[in-house]
Amino acid sequence: QSAAPTGDTIFGKILRKEIPAKFVYEDEQCVAFHDVNPQAPTHILVIPRKPIAQLSKAEDSDEQLLGHLLIAARKVAHSQGLDKAGFRLVINDGKNGAQSVYHLHIHILGGRQMHWPPG
Ligand code: 5GP
Repeated sequence: QSAAPTGDTIFGKILRKEIPAKFVYEDEQCVAFHDVNPQAPTHILVIPRKPIAQLSKAEDSDEQLLGHLLIAARKVAHSQGLDKAGFRLVINDGKNGAQSVYHLHIHILGGRQMHWPPG
């Protein structure tokens, strides 16, 4: 798949506040904002400030950052009240994973019953 140049995705522009987004969380390593096309009553994206294109391009040295993203997702899920009934995290990787934006992101989906397998 052809990714946009690293750091030059729509999420890069959101990170740099060049285009607006509804932010719900920010820290020194990541930000979280509402997905523009929500697939659940609550649909939030957690993205690292570091422009890693996709999970499969992450390096062993990104271990701390990747863990940080999960902790951030846990905090966001809690602040949104999703951890009472449960929620889902999704990382799409590459073409078969249906990734469309090549800046690593964790989807947080909640507020409705999920199903498995996802299809
Ligand atoms: P992917 O398919 O790459 O895992 O997910 C990309 C997600 O980014 C999609 O759910 C899509 O709705 C969301 N998205 C794409 N462009 C924008 C945007 O400009 N702003 C926001 N907030 N979300 C976006």
